[in-house]
Parts: sequence; structure tokens; C-alpha cells
Amino acid sequence: MAEVRVHVPAPLRSHVAGEPTILVEATSLHMALGAVQAAYPALADRLLTDDGRVRPYVNLFLNGRDVRLLEADKLTIDQPADLTIVPSIAGGAPDLTREERLRYHRQLILPELGLEGQQRLRAASVLVVGAGGLGSPAALYLAAAGVGRIGIVDGDIVELSNLHRQILHDTTSVGTRKTTSAKARLEELNPDVEVMEIPRRLDASNALEILDGWDVVVDGTDNFPTRYVINDACVLLGIPLAYGAIFRFDGQASVFAASGGPCYRCLFRDPPPAALAPSCAEAGVLGALPGIVGSIQATETIKLITGMGTPLIGRLLLVDALGGEFRSLEIRRDPACVVCGDTPTLTDLVDFEAFCAESLDVDEPGAPFPIPAGFQLPVPFPAVDALELKEMIDRGKRLVLVDVRDPAEHAMSDLANLGAISLPMEELEERLEEIDPLVETILFCRTGRRSMEAVEFLHSRGYARVLNLSGGINGWARDVDPNLPTY
Ligand code: ZN
Repeated sequence: MAEVRVHVPAPLRSHVAGEPTILVEATSLHMALGAVQAAYPALADRLLTDDGRVRPYVNLFLNGRDVRLLEADKLTIDQPADLTIVPSIAGGAPDLTREERLRYHRQLILPELGLEGQQRLRAASVLVVGAGGLGSPAALYLAAAGVGRIGIVDGDIVELSNLHRQILHDTTSVGTRKTTSAKARLEELNPDVEVMEIPRRLDASNALEILDGWDVVVDGTDNFPTRYVINDACVLLGIPLAYGAIFRFDGQASVFAASGGPCYRCLFRDPPPAALAPSCAEAGVLGALPGIVGSIQATETIKLITGMGTPLIGRLLLVDALGGEFRSLEIRRDPACVVCGDTPTLTDLVDFEAFCAESLDVDEPGAPFPIPAGFQLPVPFPAVDALELKEMIDRGKRLVLVDVRDPAEHAMSDLANLGAISLPMEELEERLEEIDPLVETILFCRTGRRSMEAVEFLHSRGYARVLNLSGGINGWARDVDPNLPTY
């Protein structure tokens, strides 16, 4: 006798006390079905006719193979096996055409997906916001998988510098609308897919209207304002959100706004001020990284549509491309969340700029970078340039300047007139206590490169309010104080 694990699809689990898998012992498929019938007569009723034959609208897969193709009657089982039940969906979705069966064959033969999953994909609609680094692989895989309707939201034009990561577009599409280029490419890939172009910039004024009615939304944006608007709109509309974010060599993915799960705001309550949140354009990104993260977003979307597997609801997947590591962290819905909490206060979309201004002016400890314990922020190493720093100083913002250069360099030029203290890189670790974690601290070196490393180090030690002066002291001399010597 061998153990047979019978995988029960969600619609039939009420007959087996909610279990996704039941175990029976058998030496043949016939015997396994008999054992199911004896132990779970109500389930067997749905699978088998009175004379014990498999009902025509039920598919059974033994170890991933369709038993109808395996001459079920003669099928013996001599080692542990997996039997997967795949009923056709209610409502009589039209069968697949011959061409569809060929096109999707390699995924149709996955028992977890099967005919029913394919029909669900065809009936589904997915809105991809942003036809950039993340949206490109996500949209390509979704179209290839046979998602019936795909919407592409993007107000930008294809630029040459997009092409190292935005694989929807190619050299000939430089200068054209991203939505137009995306639609052409997706239709070329799969003419059965209906692609809808929405060549607009998503914001608080139009997000509810644009997102309404889609089954799943894929967040392929690269900036905070849109991210918060998408999250809030998805929560308000009850649409699950396949989230992805990238920064330099790090990526994140999750599923937000799904029933019972957390949303993006549960994790990051408020956006950081715009000046402190570099985008890809400023910070750089390895081209293949959005390929990984966008593909994960497509995978999660397909899982949400077909109901297979365990979606990333309540988990944040972290991708470390340089270290070659994936980690996943448990995240929870915050009962105090302003949009998805028990008593939400945010019931309409909020303009991000308002949040920005507030965060910049309110100098309370802990804001503006909420860092959940145990992981780094998607835009972990914020920076200001010389003009932004001058503006902060002119506004009277409380901050400390730290010169991380060698003493010899410090002797050549310094910002002592602004109260800057000298704390060379190599002494940083032993003089950590000189940095007040509650006060905005701006590190600088000659050009901003070494101080960025110092910022990275301090963030890893939990100093969330440390920023980099991009351009360094030379940038300050160039843009603000021409009397300062440069070297
Ligand atoms: Zn929330």
C-alpha cells in the first residue's frame, strides 16, 4: 500500500472539513478513489458518478499527469503519490480553443493551474501602473500567461536610459509613449490579450476612477507619491495589490490590500519627504533586478487570479541581488492603520504633497522614516544636495553636520561656520554615541561618495535620521559658498 495525498481545491474543501489535502492508502487509482468515497462520501459525490466513474467535468491528475491520458483503469500506485482534483469552474466558461491549448500547454499541464486556472486567467483583468522596470516583466509575463485584459498606466515617453531595465521597450521605441510601445509589444507577444492604454500620470485626483473595476493591480511605480495613492485606492476599492519596489541592488515584493492582510501603510505609515527619497533616476539600479521583482509580481498576480499556492499576503519578500539572497519577513495588518485599520481615518485619497510639507515641517523624533524592525527601507540611504541643505538651514531646521573626511582634508576646507563636527570614517564605529539618533544628521565628505557609505553604516546601526550630503563639500562650495576652497 502506498500513501496517496489527495489535493482538494478550495470550492470542494467544505466536504473535507476545510483540509487542502487528505491522505488515503491504495495500490491503484481505482482503490484510492474507493478510499476517498468511503472516508468522504460527500466529496466523492462531486467527483464520481453512481457507478464509480470520474464525472466528465472533473479532471484528476496523478503526479501531475492527467489520468485520462494514463488509462485510469489500469493505473497502479506503488509509491507515495499526489492526486490533484481540478473541477471545471461554475458558470460554464467557454472551453479553450485549439490554439489556446497549444499556446498555454506547458502551464495547462500543471495540475495546480489546469484548464480552470487558464479560464480564470482569460476572464481576469490586471492593471499595471508604470510601464517601467517592474511593469515591463510583469506585463510581459501576464500577457504571455493569457490574462484576458491588461491595462497599462504611464504618462512617460521611452528614453534611451530606460532600456537597460525596461524590457517592454526597445531602441526603436525611444521617443514614443510608453503605453503605445507597451501595447504593441504585448499584442505582438499574445494577440488574444486585450491591452488598454492609459497614457496618464496616476495621482490622487484620478486614481479611484482609473483603478476601479480591475481584478488585480500591479504597482510598477518608482516614486512615493504614486505608491501611496495606489495603496490607498486599492484598500478603498478592495482590490489586491501586487507590490514591488527596487533600489540599487535591493528589492521588495508583497501582496497588499488583500482581505485580512496588511497594506503598504501598515508597513510605512507616511511617505518620506520628497527631498529625502531618491528615485531610480537619481540612485541607479541594476537592470536585471526589476526583472526579478517584476516577475515575482506577475507570479503573485497569477496566484491571486487562479487561487493556487500561498500568496505573499502578510509577508514581505526581500531580494538582495548583491548578496544573492532572498528573505521573507512576516508583516501584520496594523489595527491603527489610517486606511485599512479598525477605525480608518483616511476615507478618500490624499495628495502626497500635503504629506510632504507636513513631514518636513514637523520636527518630531521618529518621523519621517518609519523602519519596521528587522529590515531596511526600500530607499534606505536618503540624501540632500547643497541647495536643499541650505534651504533646511535657512528654515532654521534643527540638524547636525558631520564631516567624515580625514583630518588632513578637514584642514583644507571645513563647514565649522555651520557648526559641523569632524568625525572621520575610521573613528565612526567607536564614536557612535556622539551621534544623536533623534536629530537630523547630515554627513559629508569631499564628493558625497564616502559619506554615503557612512550613512549606509549608520542606518545599519539603527540611525534612521542620518542623511548624506550628495555632492559633498565641493558641491556646497560650487552651489552655495564660492569662497570655500575645493580640492
Ligand atoms: Zn494598512
